[in-house]
Amino acid sequence: MPSTVSAEGPPADPPELLLRDFEPRPQLVVSTTHPDKPRFPVIDAHNHLGETFGGGWIHQPVAELLDILDRAGVRLLVDLDGGWGESILEEHLDHFKAASPDRFLHFGGGDWGQWPEQGSGFADWAAGRVREQARRGAQGLKIWKGLGLQVRDHKDQLVAVDDQRLDPIWAAATEIGLPVLIHVADPVAFFDPLDACNERWEELRAHPDWHFPSPPFPPFLSIVEAFKRLVLRHPGTTFIGAHVGCYAENLNWVSDLLDQAPNLYVDIAARMAELGRQPYSARRFFLRHADHILFGTDLPAAVSCYRVHYRFLETADEYFAYDPVGAATQGRWQIYGLSLPDDVLEKVYHLNAEAVLLGRSRSGSAAL
Ligand SMILES: [Zn+2]
Repeated sequence: MPSTVSAEGPPADPPELLLRDFEPRPQLVVSTTHPDKPRFPVIDAHNHLGETFGGGWIHQPVAELLDILDRAGVRLLVDLDGGWGESILEEHLDHFKAASPDRFLHFGGGDWGQWPEQGSGFADWAAGRVREQARRGAQGLKIWKGLGLQVRDHKDQLVAVDDQRLDPIWAAATEIGLPVLIHVADPVAFFDPLDACNERWEELRAHPDWHFPSPPFPPFLSIVEAFKRLVLRHPGTTFIGAHVGCYAENLNWVSDLLDQAPNLYVDIAARMAELGRQPYSARRFFLRHADHILFGTDLPAAVSCYRVHYRFLETADEYFAYDPVGAATQGRWQIYGLSLPDDVLEKVYHLNAEAVLLGRSRSGSAAL
């Protein structure tokens, strides 16, 4: 008989608790470290300064953004929101780069919606836009996840990521020396049914437009396999695979591709939660591919956000929230620090980005 039984009988069961109200507080007592500044200067190689993502900095004073970057130890920020039309790119160049030429770098983009109008000449037309954007100051080309998921040609057929008709676009980027930052697919769970097994259920419920169930969307693997073929077929083109090569859930898959494709780099933007829940695999991945990983956040610039990234990469802290305000927005788990060695940290923080984005030698660490 349990000792909790009183003279009045057994205690009543506690009331049912909804998952959304369940906020367990870890009672672990372990050492914690909170780096204020990164151990080396940082390049945030994946961010957005436009209207939709990144906090809408295009409408705010650059001095305020620079103040945040200074306090966070971020030397250079890559803005992927140069858009397709030259007017958006020029607006960003005027607002940010003109104010502080050494602190910002802007990528152009693509307007797939022009395919019906341009017909079979679309890729040549698009390659011309890439050249024009570079002439005006774009320092890279951003390809968004619509390619492979939604982009349709002039015959209303879905276009695969490795569709050979797009080759003139990659050729133009290669000829000019622009890196191509490409984001295909999304977290694997975004392609799964929205049921009790989906590890991103809460996020997908909050953002139903992020759900790409297959069918009608192509399976996740068919998209990333097409990305792999694209990268391998264009060894002269420098690709940056956003979000850990678009498959952070499977670092062995990304690692195999990096082994085969010296023209491929990956950024870690928006994947701290994914990497931090697999610290042994992630640390091995960073050590093996230290020359091909770029720091990036994909989050509105905030000192607290940068600091949690530094805690993740630099410390051996255990089981901490990946979101500075503690919200488990990318899955109900906590993360572990990777305690990366200095030589790896310096490459990831800025040397690799300098090599890919600015064409500087990786040994020239005095640049920043
Ligand atoms: Zn992004």
